[in-house]
Amino acid sequence: MARPIPFACPKCHNILSEAQASFACTACGKGYPSIDGIPSFVGEDAFYEGKWLEPDFSAGSPRNWLVKKERFFLSGLRGRKGSVLDLGCGGGWKLFADVGVAVGVDVSLSSLRNARRLYSQVAQAKLSELPFEDGSFDFVVSSDVLGHVSLEGKGTVLREIYRVLKRGGRTLNYVETDGDDPIMRFAKGYPELYSKHIVEPEGHIGLERAAEVVSRFAGAGLRPVRVEFCYKGLTYAGRFVQYFDNEYKGKSAPVRGLVAICKLATAAKPIELAANLGMSLLIELGDVVFPESWAGGIAVCFEKP
Ligand SMILES: [Zn+2]
Repeated sequence: MARPIPFACPKCHNILSEAQASFACTACGKGYPSIDGIPSFVGEDAFYEGKWLEPDFSAGSPRNWLVKKERFFLSGLRGRKGSVLDLGCGGGWKLFADVGVAVGVDVSLSSLRNARRLYSQVAQAKLSELPFEDGSFDFVVSSDVLGHVSLEGKGTVLREIYRVLKRGGRTLNYVETDGDDPIMRFAKGYPELYSKHIVEPEGHIGLERAAEVVSRFAGAGLRPVRVEFCYKGLTYAGRFVQYFDNEYKGKSAPVRGLVAICKLATAAKPIELAANLGMSLLIELGDVVFPESWAGGIAVCFEKP
């Protein structure tokens, strides 16, 4: 049976011939296994395997509207139809699957097993070598992924996004960035702690300033459609606890106090919900009044001309 989006050799981009449990490239002779029905173009990644597993079945929920980065995807894709490639898909997101034929790529096989419940096709592949032909997709999306790509590797990933997009196709990405707000400046004042508690646990090895993300997409030959600087110096209580409920508390009394408040706010689900609701409103306000350089994330929509 023909696949809606055929898999192609990640090295030479020729369509692969598919057998029982393997794929072969008739052009360059390379072969790729299929593991439990999942085409595998890259070996296991010890860091990411099993890290982001949960499928997200939301597609227009109140939370999607409230959480700024989710609202960006919701408003950017609402009413649109076409093929979607989700880069670093984890367990998958129904919001993306609803757009049309959805394909997820990730390095974590266990995440892909879950993503299969939402997406038509999944593949274990690197973002720098996508297993698809040129011009395969109407949309290429990523959420909280490009901050995990090293600074040296980003150019290749951007070129791949451009390559697999159709002309007139759009790429929507929420990218984690290096915010220059007072709290992150404090955090970076202790490079070892910053690395240990903020960068390493999540693999945020490729954070750069939000403005640099915009330049990268433009530099890849893409045309800006929408750019939103987000989370300027403010974040949710749970995230603050995750980052600072550690040796950082011994470095600053105000941070110690904020951690205590945030821990109270996350002590019980209903309280956390109320706190996050309040925080969402503060984030909206902060994003209006604070400078762009403070942004801890950026939502970008670009089009391939
Ligand atoms: Zn090949």
